[in-house]
Amino acid sequence: MRQFMTHSNKPIIALTSNTQAASAKVLGAPIPFPYEIVRSRRKTMVVHVQHQQVQVRAPHFVSDAQIAEFVEKHSQWISRKLSEKAQQDSQRLRLQDNGKIFYKGKTLRLRLFVRAAEAVEVTGTELHVYAKRTDERTVAAVLQRWLLAQAKAILPQRTRALAAHLNADTKLKDVVFRKTKTKWGHCTSSGRIQFNWLIMLAPDAIIDYMICHEVSHLLVMNHSAKFWALVESVCPDYRVYVRWLRKHEHRLWL
Ligand SMILES: [Zn+2]
Repeated sequence: MRQFMTHSNKPIIALTSNTQAASAKVLGAPIPFPYEIVRSRRKTMVVHVQHQQVQVRAPHFVSDAQIAEFVEKHSQWISRKLSEKAQQDSQRLRLQDNGKIFYKGKTLRLRLFVRAAEAVEVTGTELHVYAKRTDERTVAAVLQRWLLAQAKAILPQRTRALAAHLNADTKLKDVVFRKTKTKWGHCTSSGRIQFNWLIMLAPDAIIDYMICHEVSHLLVMNHSAKFWALVESVCPDYRVYVRWLRKHEHRLWL
């Protein structure tokens, strides 16, 4: 699911070369944001916007002035990305009482209660977490157990049913659960399908799309036209779900 599985919490790729902070003042109009230059043995320049940081990765042979020119040329695009990221950061899930949690496509108010017996309940507009303590770590652990239990109850059965429907059941070896930093699902060449149980926060249609995606990989391991045609045969609206994930997935990570 490489296309849309990366989310914006992804750390910046390890930097091997020297880094330096660049002055945001350049030739013509001043650039309205600071940026960092990372030089390496690459051949082209590229701009990365992560959270509120702009990084230009450039080859050794490119001068600071050329980089400044490059940044200036792309400053509109960069400014747009920065405001997008700022909006995403503001929507990111924070596990605190009266915070917001994006659950099944709706923004609910998160309420935290101290109680010996842990539980999670969804009312119309609120999601209640009962836990021994209400610090973020404890609440995250309670929520994770709740989501994992749902994932185990729902995903293997639906995955096997779809695999059988596509005559791929002999290829499906196992369904496992793992929370990774960047992926919703994964299918290995040996037929093991892995789901990130955080997907249980998403609407059911998104969960079904995820299942279609991974089961289709049992038959086509890449993301070729053949693969997407297969996905479409069992999930005609898949484009809608891919777009939904691109737009909202940053709100599902805890
Ligand atoms: Zn895939």
